[in-house]
Amino acid sequence: MREISKELHVASGAYICTYECTYCPGCSEEMELVCPNCGGELVKRPKRRIESSPERIF
Ligand SMILES: [Zn+2]
Repeated sequence: MREISKELHVASGAYICTYECTYCPGCSEEMELVCPNCGGELVKRPKRRIESSPERIF
């Protein structure tokens, strides 16, 4: 059995806030996933570019 862990391969990337400030994962965790520049939430940067709309509709 193999675990599919594509995210782990990408995990070396970065975290990004709603205003596209990017931080390394270590820094993001130290900042409790809050962007110090704009107070936005830091999330893992998606593979695709973030669309212009800040809100996601599922
Ligand atoms: Zn920011």
